[in-house]
Amino acid sequence: MTIDGRLLLAVAAALGVMFGLIVLALERRMRHPTPGLRLWAVAAFLLGAAAALHALQGIAPLWVPAIAGNALILVGRACTVASCQQLDHHRVRGRWLAALSTLFFAGVLATLLVWPSFPARSLVMVAGMGLFATWAAASLFVSAPLSVSRTVTLAGFAGMALASFSRIWAHARQIDEGSAVDLHSPVIAVYIGALLIFDVLCNVGFVLIITDRMHERVLQLARTDHLTGALSRGALYTQAQRDLQLARRQRSYTAAFIVDIDHFKAINDTHGHAAGDSVLRHVAQHGQAVLRCTDLFGRYGGDEFVAILPETDLDTAAIIADRLRQCVGQPMPGPPPLPRGVPGVTVSIGVAAVLAGGQGIDELIAQADAALYSAKHAGRNCTRVVDDPPPPGKPPLRVIHGGT
Ligand code: GH3
Ligand code: MG
Repeated sequence: MTIDGRLLLAVAAALGVMFGLIVLALERRMRHPTPGLRLWAVAAFLLGAAAALHALQGIAPLWVPAIAGNALILVGRACTVASCQQLDHHRVRGRWLAALSTLFFAGVLATLLVWPSFPARSLVMVAGMGLFATWAAASLFVSAPLSVSRTVTLAGFAGMALASFSRIWAHARQIDEGSAVDLHSPVIAVYIGALLIFDVLCNVGFVLIITDRMHERVLQLARTDHLTGALSRGALYTQAQRDLQLARRQRSYTAAFIVDIDHFKAINDTHGHAAGDSVLRHVAQHGQAVLRCTDLFGRYGGDEFVAILPETDLDTAAIIADRLRQCVGQPMPGPPPLPRGVPGVTVSIGVAAVLAGGQGIDELIAQADAALYSAKHAGRNCTRVVDDPPPPGKPPLRVIHGGT
C-alpha cells in the first residue's frame, strides 16, 4: 500500500473529529467553564472537515477543496489562535483574525477565479497557515511558563509554521503549473504527513494542558475549605510545617493564633445554620483581610480558625490578632453581608509563638489553644497571649496578658 496524500488527509479528517470530541468531553468534565476549550473543539472539527474536502481532490469539483476546503482551513486556524488566547485569558484579537482570514480567502478566490494559478493559490494558503501557526505558538510562549504540556503544543505549532513556510521556499524554487495539488506526489505526501504529525502534537499538548488545569483545580479544592474559602486544615498543616522548617534554618519566630466564635451554637440555634454559615464566612473574610500574604489562615474545624504568621514574634502576633478581634464586629465592605437579625459577632483569640521552629506545629497550636481557653474563661471577646513555651514535661502555660 502506498501512503499518498489522500490517505493522510482521510486520517487527518478522522483525527480532527476525534480530538474535537475529546476536548468537548473534557470540557463537560471540568464542571466550571474553562475558556478556549469549545473554540478548540470547533477548530478541530473545522480542520477535520477541511481535510475531508481536500481528500476529495480530483473526485469532487475543484471548488470543493479549493474554495470550501481552504475557507475551512483559514477559519479553523484562526479559531485555534483565538482558543490559545482565551485559554490564557488574553484579549482575543477577533477583528485581526477575521480580517486576516478574509484577506487570505480573498487571495484564494483571486488566484482561482480572476488570475487562475495553482502555485499562487498554494502560496497564499501556506502563508496563511504559517502565519496563524506562528501566532498561536507566540501566544502560548508569552502567556505562561513553559510546562511540558505547553511545550508540546508550542512545538506542534512551531513545526506547523516551519512546514508551511518551507512550502513557500519550495514553490519559489520550482513553480508547478498544474491546476491542483497532486496527492500522489511523494513531496506532497511528506508535507501533508508533517502537518498531520504537528497537528497531532498540538492536540495532544492541548489535551495535556486541560488535564493540568483539572489537576490544579482538584488540588485547589483540596487546599481550601469549601464553605469559607480559607485553607483546609490539611493544607494549613502542610504549609505550616514548611514555614517552621524555614524558621528553624533562619532562627526566626513563628507565631500562631486560634480564633473561636463566641456563642456560635446560639447563633445557629436562633437564626439557623445558613446564618451560622454566613457568620463563618464573615469571620474568614476578616481573617484573610488582616493578615499578610505570607501568613496562613485556615479553618481548623467547626467555628475555629487558625492563623500562622512566619517571622512574627509574640507581641506583633498579639497586636494583629486583637486587630482581627476588633474588626470582626465591623461589617465587611462588599458581600456577603450578615443576615438580618444576627447580633454583633464576637470572637475569642489565643496567641502563641515559638523561636526557630523549636516545637512542631501541634505544640504551637496546643499553646495557642490553651491561651484561647483562658480567653473564653475571661469572659470571651478578648485576646489572650502566652509568654513562654511550656517547660518539658509540663502542661502549657502561663497566660500573662490580653485585652477586651
Ligand atoms: P463558645 O463561645 O464557648 O465557643 O461557644 P459556642 O457556642 O461557640 O460553642 P462551640 O464553639 O463548641 O460551637 C461550635 C458549633 O459550631 C457547634 C456546631 O453545631 C457548629 N458548627 C460546626 N461546623 C459548622 C458549619 O459548618 N456550619 C454551621 N452553621 N455551624 C457549624
Ligand atoms: Mg465557639
